[in-house]
Amino acid sequence: MPQLPRVVGAITSIALLTAACGAAGGATSDGRPVVLTTFTVLADIAANVAGGRLRVESITRPGVEVHGYEPTPADVKKAARADLVVDNGLGLEAWAAKYTEDAGAPRVVASAGVTPIPISEDARAGEPNPHAWMSPLTTRAYVDNLVAAFSDLAPEHAGHFRANGERYRAELLRAHEDLVSALRAVPDDRRSLVTCEGAFPYLARDAGLTDHYLWAVNAERQATPRQVARVVDHVRAAGVPAVFCESTVSDAPMRQVAAATGAAFGGVLHVDSLSEPDGPVPTYLDLIRHDARTIAAALTGGAR
Ligand SMILES: [Zn+2]
Repeated sequence: MPQLPRVVGAITSIALLTAACGAAGGATSDGRPVVLTTFTVLADIAANVAGGRLRVESITRPGVEVHGYEPTPADVKKAARADLVVDNGLGLEAWAAKYTEDAGAPRVVASAGVTPIPISEDARAGEPNPHAWMSPLTTRAYVDNLVAAFSDLAPEHAGHFRANGERYRAELLRAHEDLVSALRAVPDDRRSLVTCEGAFPYLARDAGLTDHYLWAVNAERQATPRQVARVVDHVRAAGVPAVFCESTVSDAPMRQVAAATGAAFGGVLHVDSLSEPDGPVPTYLDLIRHDARTIAAALTGGAR
C-alpha cells in the first residue's frame, strides 16, 4: 500500500483494495501474486523458493511468538488479499485454519508429508511436535511442498521455482553437514540439550543429542515448580554443563535452573522467529548455524 495522508487513508485504501482485487484477483500493484506466511522462518524459506517472482510476507514480525498469536482484523484483511497463505501445520499455529477460513484465502501446509516426532511429556504428549523445520533435512520437504504450491499459483514460473528449490535443497544439505560437524566435538557424556521449550527433538535427532525441556510448546508455557524441579534433577544427574533458552520467551526459569545446579547459561537459541536483518539470525540458514555453534561452544567449553 502506498503511504497516504492519515485522514483519507481508510477511504482511499478501500478504493485501492477494490481496484487491486478487480484488476488482478488479489495480486499486488506490482503484479506479483502475494504469499502470506505465518512466521518469519517460513517467509525466508518461501522467499528462497519464490526467488522474487512472488511477493512473500510474514504475518508475525521478527521476535513475535507464533504459537499463541491472535490475528488482528488487519491481518484478516491482509489474508483476504493474499493469493496463498502458507502455514507450518503440525499444530504450530492453532489459529491458522480459522484465520484463512475467515479470510477466504487458499492455504497450503508447508510440513505436509513430514513424519512428525511426537511430544514426549506434559499435557500435549503424543501430539506432533511442530518444530520440524529445526532439521534442515526435514525442511527439504517444505521446499518440495512450496515448489508444488507456487507452481500451481504461477505456472509460468514453474521452472524458476523448481531450479530455486533444487539450489536451496543443496544449501539445506550443507547446513545439515555444518550442524553435525559443529556438534561432533561435544563429548559423549555432555550430549544433553536442555532448553526452555521442547523445540529441539528434530535437531537433536539429526545431531545425535538428547533433548530435555521445561515446557513442551510455547502455547502452554508455564514453568511450573514441578517442571523446573524435573529439569534441575536431570541437569544434576547427567552433569549437564550448560542450559539454554529461546529468543521469544523469558529465560528467567532457565536461569533459575542454572543457579540451582551450577550449570552455565549457554546462551539464546533461535527457533520460532528470525531476528531483524541486522540481528544474529536474519535467515533460516543463519538460525541453524547460529544454534549449532552456540550449543557446541557451551557444551564443549562448559565450566564443569
Ligand atoms: Zn516453538
